[in-house]
Amino acid sequence: MTTCFIGLGGNITNELGTPTEHIINAVQAFKQSPHFTDVKMSSLYQSKAFGITDQPDFINAVLSANTSLPPLELLDFCQGLEQTAKRVRLRHWGERSLDVDILLYGDKRIHHERLTVPHQGLFERNFVLIPMLEIDECLLINGQKLADLNESNSWQGLNKLT
Ligand code: ATP
Ligand code: CA
Ligand code: CA
Repeated sequence: MTTCFIGLGGNITNELGTPTEHIINAVQAFKQSPHFTDVKMSSLYQSKAFGITDQPDFINAVLSANTSLPPLELLDFCQGLEQTAKRVRLRHWGERSLDVDILLYGDKRIHHERLTVPHQGLFERNFVLIPMLEIDECLLINGQKLADLNESNSWQGLNKLT
């Protein structure tokens, strides 16, 4: 079993629900799958859209779990959840019902055409770092404490939802 961290986000309501509901449904799918144990979820966070700003605010959360799936099968599982939420690809970094990213897969470094781990945006994104630290404040990446790596450990633009 390998401990993975998964980023969940979305900013579009569709016929299947609100962004928060898409995230909750995805967490349920991890909990119900035989491929995952010890599923933990952070709080939900709201933030301004990153990159393309003329779109609704995002809701984000991070999940950690132990998984028996190898990395590419985990990516397939994550992309399956995006399809279940009827994600439609409009524009890069644009609006979506649900985005499911692999942030960490144990301490593995992966450079594959479909998969880069640790996720390339991880260190710059407070909407990922802050919920990760909420799940595990002692988390190490490449032997370094995430809390120390998080130079811009700021809450700027980020609201924790109760
Ligand atoms: P970003 O990756 O900057 O957060 P995004 O999530 O909007 O942007 P997508 O359109 O969801 O990007 O994904 C594009 C491709 O990224 C996917 O088809 C997938 O193969 C690839 N990818 C590479 N590394 C990862 C990863 N760690 N987790 C999820 N997808 C990844
Ligand atoms: Ca993403
Ligand atoms: Ca993605």
